Amino acid sequence: MCFQEKGLFYLRYHKMEETTKAPGKNYCIGILTSGGDAPGMNAAIRAVTRAAIYKGFCVKAIYRGYKGLLSDEIVEFKTQNVSNIIQQGGTILKTARCKEFQTPEGRKIAHDTLVRENIDALVVIGGDGTLTGARIFATEYNFPIVGLPGTIDNDLFGTDSTIGYDTALNTIMEAVDKIRDTATSHERLFFIEVMGRDAGFLALNGAIASGAEAAIIPEYNTEVDQLEELIKNGFRKSKNSSIVLVAESPTTGGAMQLAERVKNEYPQYDVRVSILGHLQRGGSPTAHDRILASRMGAAAIDALIEGQRNVMIGIQNDQIVYVPFSKAIKNDKPIDRELLNTLRTLSI
Ligand code: ATP
Repeated sequence: MCFQEKGLFYLRYHKMEETTKAPGKNYCIGILTSGGDAPGMNAAIRAVTRAAIYKGFCVKAIYRGYKGLLSDEIVEFKTQNVSNIIQQGGTILKTARCKEFQTPEGRKIAHDTLVRENIDALVVIGGDGTLTGARIFATEYNFPIVGLPGTIDNDLFGTDSTIGYDTALNTIMEAVDKIRDTATSHERLFFIEVMGRDAGFLALNGAIASGAEAAIIPEYNTEVDQLEELIKNGFRKSKNSSIVLVAESPTTGGAMQLAERVKNEYPQYDVRVSILGHLQRGGSPTAHDRILASRMGAAAIDALIEGQRNVMIGIQNDQIVYVPFSKAIKNDKPIDRELLNTLRTLSI
């Protein structure tokens, strides 16, 4: 197992408190998926389950995220339960949002369930909210939890990539390629809205991958000015179409609002909007996401054996790292400004 050496993230070895059982015979690991679904979650469930069973542990699958902890929707998993799922999108464990888990009363019910089910540790797969809930619960009840970053948004700090991001990016690229065909035929300006409420990774890298003219992302809202510049100077001089990817964030205003603004200011352009929506979440995970999920899932079990808790499994420079929940959640993951420059340079 490798760890980040630069001091930002480090191996956090917490000696097991006497109140929690050290991994060994009869050790039982609960697993759940929570928040928005992401392609590759099934590959992660498979990896966690098989790695745990390989080490001699018992695995209990919790359905519908934290909601299933409150309503005791729990089933013991054997290796066959995760057969033939690595290629499936979505999550076989289902996912849900659970407001009750945000209250101390709700978390007490969840803890009672874990005790009753003899679950000694949890692996949770989800995004920012899921890890926030995990962190609060783990602190409140001194309960060992390891998180896996499962979100298409790639917005968790401390990991180069999250499970599902690469698949969503490829889905966006394929969709934009198709829209480009019609945009070129009609010489239109298209605003294509992609997911990413607080993070522009999908929009920016989706734009680079599909040869789009610009990306409007929440991190740099000044890009609207750049867009106007692009329309004034470039469109139709040398191009048959223009495509702008817009992150769905309130900061950007979304594709509809931008398109209205451009239509008003530049009535000569034939402007259209396409909102990709939920299709970005679906589909069979790419090889990249399957491998990432498999490595992270196996690493989660190693982490528990090493006595880790309150950490998210991350990947940095192709090495598995442990990122304390507090760092993964609280820090905004920076977007590389150089990518914006690349997009600008290549869209002339
Ligand atoms: P995505 O990035 O795809 O939206 P997410 O994990 O961030 O995924 P959320 O809906 O934000 O999705 O969170 C999932 C669940 O985590 C919530 O429904 C809730 O049960 C739990 N959760 C979120 N925030 C908290 C919190 N502050 N305290 C306790 N639990 C929380």
